[in-house]
Amino acid sequence: MQYRAWFQCINEQCREQYPLNTIIYRCKACDSLLEVQHDMEALGRRDAKAWMKLFEDRYKSTQWPYGSGVWGKKEWILPQIADDNIVSLYEGGTNLFWAERFGKMIGIDNLWLKLCGNSHSGSFKDLGMTVLVSQVKQMISEGAPIKAVACASTGDTSAALAVYCAAAGIQSIVLLPKGKISIAQLVQPIANGALVLSLDTDFDGCMRVVREITKDETIYLANSMNSLRIEGQKTVGIEIVQQFDWVVPDVIIIPGGNLGNVSALGSGMLMMRDLGLITKLPRIVVAQAERANPLYRSYLKNFESFEPIEAQKTLASAIQIGNPVSFEKAIRTIRQFNGIVVDATEQELSDAAALGDTTGMFNCPHTGVALAALIKLLKAGKIDKAEHVVVISTAHGLKFTDFKVNYHEGALDFPCNYSNKPIELPARVDAVKEALEQALEKRRTTNG
Ligand SMILES: *Cc1c(COP(=O)(O)O)cnc(C)c1O
Ligand SMILES: [Zn+2]
Repeated sequence: MQYRAWFQCINEQCREQYPLNTIIYRCKACDSLLEVQHDMEALGRRDAKAWMKLFEDRYKSTQWPYGSGVWGKKEWILPQIADDNIVSLYEGGTNLFWAERFGKMIGIDNLWLKLCGNSHSGSFKDLGMTVLVSQVKQMISEGAPIKAVACASTGDTSAALAVYCAAAGIQSIVLLPKGKISIAQLVQPIANGALVLSLDTDFDGCMRVVREITKDETIYLANSMNSLRIEGQKTVGIEIVQQFDWVVPDVIIIPGGNLGNVSALGSGMLMMRDLGLITKLPRIVVAQAERANPLYRSYLKNFESFEPIEAQKTLASAIQIGNPVSFEKAIRTIRQFNGIVVDATEQELSDAAALGDTTGMFNCPHTGVALAALIKLLKAGKIDKAEHVVVISTAHGLKFTDFKVNYHEGALDFPCNYSNKPIELPARVDAVKEALEQALEKRRTTNG
């Protein structure tokens, strides 16, 4: 095989290496996180133009598995896996659209939304899970004694794990914080045959339990501490640049919880730069909910220290995480990318999501956090109106209908500035006509 990848410890003093078919999540020598390292010299023997052409030829084709946005870049992801072991649901290749009207409203011309939630399980987690479950299938085919794959989740990881495992015929186990995820997210792993364990704790509590359970090597850990997931998620940045014909945007904004995704975004960008596909790097903005903002607090102290917090309840439930596993990788990425961390209150994230929806988006609350961050950075002059900005939308809005219903009902504990309540009327033409006249007049005045 021409190309090679392996696990490598992120600690610069250690750099211990392990083969990708080792059941390992942290360095055995120093307990640091691992990352997948590629034989860059071998990859560099194919020139940048040839890589671009290869990726373009495969993009969204039906040439299995290369039409997948992840597996179209297989040589950069898991070069040694057998195609027969790839578990793909045609992930990636998601819509990237010009948010013209929303941009105008908030004062920016060149704003784009990358809809990672338009994916099989409805969130960007599919990008990483296809890689992890494929590697598990490969290991099982080589005789590894894996009986099941387990994760702790704020909802979207479990949905993705359950669906990829179902496609592969592998048992999944998901640990969920009871009452802290949406109904749509809960029903996904149930429907896909996962063993669903609902624990009376928060995400960080579920994470502690799953780490203990997966010390038994027959239960494989699927959380993003497992760096296989980062390999798939890193395609999001590569795909964005490819969609812009290899032009790098100025700024990319991403919501962050466990902080694997931001690290992945950075990793894909660096790989493109190191292999000569791009020469500049974007600035990366991490957006956190104010009620779960340990990275933001650390950023304010110039990252001199990082302290886990107890996350408070937030509408952005998928990022309600106080003790993020990948904080070291995230800090490294923010430093490399001249990054910024911003947080958003419950009202800011809800209003931003709702305002976006009035322009034709359909935002999940986490995307609301990212849009609120953009609004704040524009106001503060930290992003210029002429800059080319991409906001990563991480999940489909339909997973969070309870959030939207409560907002539009005005049932949240703050003013919901863009709420749009249904008008209840008797089924009489005159009543409808009268209501329409009044309502349309009101809209004309508020829309200006
Ligand atoms: C997981 C998730 C995030 C956060 O990603 P991290 O890698 O945990 O930082 C953001 N939005 C949604 C919808 C998610 O499911
Ligand atoms: Zn180490």
